[in-house]
Amino acid sequence: MNPLLHMPGDACRFWVAGSCLYEESMNPGLRAEFSCTVLSALEGRFDEFVVRGEILGLTSEEAGRIWEHRMAQALNIDWDCANFTALQDDAGEILCRHFIEGVCVLRLPPCAGRCRRFELSHDE
Ligand code: SF4
Ligand code: SF4
Repeated sequence: MNPLLHMPGDACRFWVAGSCLYEESMNPGLRAEFSCTVLSALEGRFDEFVVRGEILGLTSEEAGRIWEHRMAQALNIDWDCANFTALQDDAGEILCRHFIEGVCVLRLPPCAGRCRRFELSHDE
């Protein structure tokens, strides 16, 4: 018997470069394993910063100013990820090609073809 073949899923609104964004779209941020590792590291640093700011008694304005400066420095360092692929946007900023809505496309499950969750993309 021939194996069952699925129609391609590339017309689905959840399809991103061969991967499936369905689970992330339904529960944004729930699956930590989908997160961009660079963004997760920055979030970890921010959490530490907030705790230290509270201990030091910083006002929210003071903390905001310091964090703004820190973010500028952090965003100028190299993306510490072996899979980082540079992409320049219209404003000249360097982004990672695999970064979408806070997650890494390379860490999403693959789309194995049209499934029961298939929804036609609005672009089609
Ligand atoms: S490939 Fe890009 S989006 Fe994926 S974890 Fe690395 S830096 Fe983040
Ligand atoms: S067809 Fe199914 S597996 Fe493929 S992207 Fe759409 S929802 Fe995900």
